[in-house]
Amino acid sequence: MSPRFSAATPCRLDQVPQWDIETDVIIVGFGIAGACAAIEAASAGAQVTILEVAGTHGGSAALSGGEFYLGGGTSVQRAAGFDDNAEELFNYLLLSGGPGVDAEKVRLYADGAVDHFAWIRAQGIPFKGTFLPGKWLEPVTDDTLIWSGSEAAWPFSAAAKPAPRAHAAQMEGMGAGRIVMDAFAARALEAGAEAHFNARTLCLVADGVDAVHGVVARIDGEVRYLRARKGVILCAGGFICNTEMLRRFAPAALEAAGYPTTAGNDDGSGIRMGMSVGGAVSHMEEFFATKPSFPPDNLVFGIFVNERGQRFINEDVYHGRATRYLMRQPNGRAWLLMDNAIFARPDFNPDIHIAAVGETWAEVEAELGLPGGELVHTVESYNRYAAAGVDPVFHKDAKWMQPLVEPPFAALSFGADDYPATGFTLGGLLTRPNGEVLNADGGPVPGLYAAGRTSCGLPRWGEGYCSGISLGDGSFFGRLAGRHVADLQGQPD
Ligand SMILES: Cc1cc2nc3c(=O)[nH]c(=O)nc-3n(C[C@H](O)[C@H](O)[C@H](O)COP(=O)(O)OP(=O)(O)OC[C@H]3O[C@@H](n4cnc5c(N)ncnc54)[C@H](O)[C@@H]3O)c2cc1C
Repeated sequence: MSPRFSAATPCRLDQVPQWDIETDVIIVGFGIAGACAAIEAASAGAQVTILEVAGTHGGSAALSGGEFYLGGGTSVQRAAGFDDNAEELFNYLLLSGGPGVDAEKVRLYADGAVDHFAWIRAQGIPFKGTFLPGKWLEPVTDDTLIWSGSEAAWPFSAAAKPAPRAHAAQMEGMGAGRIVMDAFAARALEAGAEAHFNARTLCLVADGVDAVHGVVARIDGEVRYLRARKGVILCAGGFICNTEMLRRFAPAALEAAGYPTTAGNDDGSGIRMGMSVGGAVSHMEEFFATKPSFPPDNLVFGIFVNERGQRFINEDVYHGRATRYLMRQPNGRAWLLMDNAIFARPDFNPDIHIAAVGETWAEVEAELGLPGGELVHTVESYNRYAAAGVDPVFHKDAKWMQPLVEPPFAALSFGADDYPATGFTLGGLLTRPNGEVLNADGGPVPGLYAAGRTSCGLPRWGEGYCSGISLGDGSFFGRLAGRHVADLQGQPD
C-alpha cells in the first residue's frame, strides 16, 4: 500500500525510498511568485524544477487585472504628470500594511519599485504608458495607469502625497493577468526552468531537525520524491478555498469564500507545509474582500449607512477598504443612499437590490424599517457638510460630496444577504525579504522559502489593501527569493 501524505506532516528523510528527481531549486506553484522566482533562479544558473497542480501556468495571477502597484516616479507616472517618489510610496505602503507592517519589506519595495517596473517591462509585458482618470477596478481601456487604492482618501492622503500607482498591462478591457503570466512563464522556461503540470506537491521532505530537503509530489498520478539541493520555495497562494482553515484562522473571511477571487487552488497547502516544519505564520485573520460600489464614479457621491441610520466611513476610499467596514456593520446590513442627481448601479452588480425608494428621506427610512429620525438626521448633517465642502466626521474629500436633495431618493443594499463579498486571504508564513521562512523563535527553517500569498508580505491588512499590491509583492519578493536560493552553496550530492 502506498503511504498517505498530508501537507501538515513532512515525510521523514529516512523514509524516502529513492530520489526520482534531483535539482537545485524546487518551486511549488507556477503563479506570479513562482514564475518570478523561477526566472531569477534559472537566470542565475540554478537548476530549477516547478511543480504546478493545475494543467497550465498562471494561477490566480492569470485571472487578475494584471495591475502592479508601483510608484516612486516610474516613467509612466512622470509622463502623466504625477510627482511621486520612493518616500511617498514608502509612507503610503507603511499605512496600507496596517498593524504589524513589515517595514523592512516596505523599504526595499519602495526603493526598488522603479527598477522593478523596468524589469517587468523587460520580460516582454506591454504597457501603453497612458493614464486613465476616474475610479476603476481595472482599466476598461488599454491604458496603463489608474488610481487603485485609497491614496486620495483620508487617512492615506494625510500620510503620503497622493499619486496613481496601479500599472496595468496593456489590454483592451479587463483581465490582463493572462498576458502577464504568459510572458513570465515563457521567460522562466526560456531561462531553463523545467515545469511539471498536473503535479500536486503533497508534503515536504525534512530531517529530524526540520531542515527541508525536498518534496513529495503526485505527478500525472504517480508519487514522486524530489530532492532540492539548495531549497524549496513555496509559492502556492493563500487559503480562501479551505473552509476548515478559514474557520480556524479567519472566520470573518467566510462571507467572502463563496465567490473566492482566486483560480480555485488556494487550499492553504503551501502554508500548511511550511507550518509542518515549524514555520511561523502571521496575520492569518486578514483578508482582502470586495463588493465594489464603483465604477461608475457617481456612486462615490452616495453615503453608506448601517441599520442605525448612521454613516461609518468616508465613501471615497478604495472599494476593498469600504467592504471591510461594510462587513462588520451590525447584522451585516448597510445601504448606499443616493438621490436622483447621482443615481447609478454598480457596473460590477447591475442587478443590485434597491431596498427602498421615496420622495423624502423619511419615506426611505420607513421603508428600510429603521428607527425614527436617525437616517433623516444623518442625511441632513451630511447635506450641510456637503454644501460647505467639508466632512468633519469622516473626512470625505469635498470633490466627492454634493447634497443629496433631488428626489426620488434610493437605498441600494450592500448587506451580506444581498451583495456577497469576494476575496482572498492575506496571512501566511513569516518570511525575511529574501524568502527565508522563519520559525517561532525568528530563526530560519533551513532549506525553506516562500513568496506570494503563501507568505505574509506587503498586503497584510484588508482595510489597507490596494489593487496591484498582490502582483507587485509576489513578483518583487518572488524574484528576491529566487535569486537568494540560487546563490546558495547547496547540499553536496
Ligand atoms: C479576478 C481577479 C483579479 C485580480 N486582480 C489583481 C490585480 O490586478 N493586481 C493584483 O495585485 N492582484 C490581483 N488579484 C489577486 C492576485 O491575482 C493574487 O493574489 C496573486 O496571483 C497571488 O499570487 P501567488 O503567486 O501567491 O498565487 P497564484 O498566482 O495563485 O499562484 C499559485 C499557484 O500555486 C498552485 N498550487 C497551489 N497549491 C499547489 C500544490 N500543492 N502543488 C502545486 N501547485 C500548487 C496554484 O495552482 C497556482 O497556480 C486578482 C485576482 C483575481 C482572481
